[in-house]
Amino acid sequence: MRNESLTAADLFKFDYFKCLRSEFAKNECRICIDLCPDEAMVFDRKKLTLDAKRCTGCAACIGSCPTEALMSDAFDPNHFTLEFAAQEKPLLSCKENLPCLAALSSEHLISIALRKQSDAICDLAHCSECSVNRDGRVYATIERTIGEANRFLELCNSDRRIGVRRDLGASEPEAGRRGLLKKLANVAKEVHEDMTMTELMHSSDEKQPLKRILLKNSLKMVAETLPEERTAEIDFSFVVNKRIDADTCNNCQECAMFCPTGALSVLKDNTGIIFQMGKCIACSICNDVCQPHSIRNDESFDPVTFAFDRMELLVKHTLEICEECKVAFSYRGGEKICDRCKDFKNSFSDMFTLAKDME
Ligand code: SF4
Ligand code: SF4
Ligand code: SF4
Repeated sequence: MRNESLTAADLFKFDYFKCLRSEFAKNECRICIDLCPDEAMVFDRKKLTLDAKRCTGCAACIGSCPTEALMSDAFDPNHFTLEFAAQEKPLLSCKENLPCLAALSSEHLISIALRKQSDAICDLAHCSECSVNRDGRVYATIERTIGEANRFLELCNSDRRIGVRRDLGASEPEAGRRGLLKKLANVAKEVHEDMTMTELMHSSDEKQPLKRILLKNSLKMVAETLPEERTAEIDFSFVVNKRIDADTCNNCQECAMFCPTGALSVLKDNTGIIFQMGKCIACSICNDVCQPHSIRNDESFDPVTFAFDRMELLVKHTLEICEECKVAFSYRGGEKICDRCKDFKNSFSDMFTLAKDME
């Protein structure tokens, strides 16, 4: 079975094949581990394991995972995003409708802001006394997420913002986390049955996280207000722009092969690499696999390109047949010999000389 239960209570599921660490063995993503306030998650022989006794069910790991490898039957941030955006009430609160605000990523918050008729407000009034936030890490993450969502909204010319409520107000007893997550499980089931979530159910691209599809659809709803020009110096945790150096790229195509979302792909005739910023989740796998280090991140960003999955040709090659091995290779002028044969010749030229001399 692809999905494995992480807890005895069956609240968390882990899709091994979606985890970035399975996609590329050298990937060191540990976002879920670093965010877990109870150190309940560890990687044991490449396998994510969860100590059910330590887990308090805050669901921070679910919202933070860039590929949605972690899921829960009790709380689905994507369904929650759609449901909450359709409601009038503004407050996102661990006391009312969420296990923890950290269960929502920037992408969820941006989608909520763009779809909702009024500004949404994150209730941070209880964080200082919350056991989940005892070392301040969860609070810092929530603050960072809200800040990132608001920077993105500003860049997209939206006048919507995610607000914050920090004052404690009337003191309320803190709900048991496990209890809240289980209670939400019932709500989630009702939501699944009640709503026709065609957006989530009919995704044509299984490689993309649903939160990304939600975000792009949300941007399309306000397409007429999006700025057309590229903005310099973006710094978002969930997307980057890419460039490939044509002088060093050898057309090995490994970046496209390993890209977990299909953001990088190969032209049908094998002569170039295409990039779709709207599909990129900033995992850095392409940068890591590229042996000549031809890929670099570019800080420019264009919301229209992002929202509509516009394609950009990053590099175009001229193919020639190698005179030595007779295999097509990326030709950059000079003698028609591929890099592999050139390397082989250079490395073993002494051996060839000796063999010739011995005749
Ligand atoms: S955050 Fe997601 S992709 Fe990253 S290690 Fe955790 S499960 Fe894997
Ligand atoms: S960018 Fe790097 S990994 Fe991608 S095709 Fe070029 S050399 Fe290969
Ligand atoms: S383009 Fe690179 S950084 Fe973006 S999702 Fe693909 S492998 Fe990850």
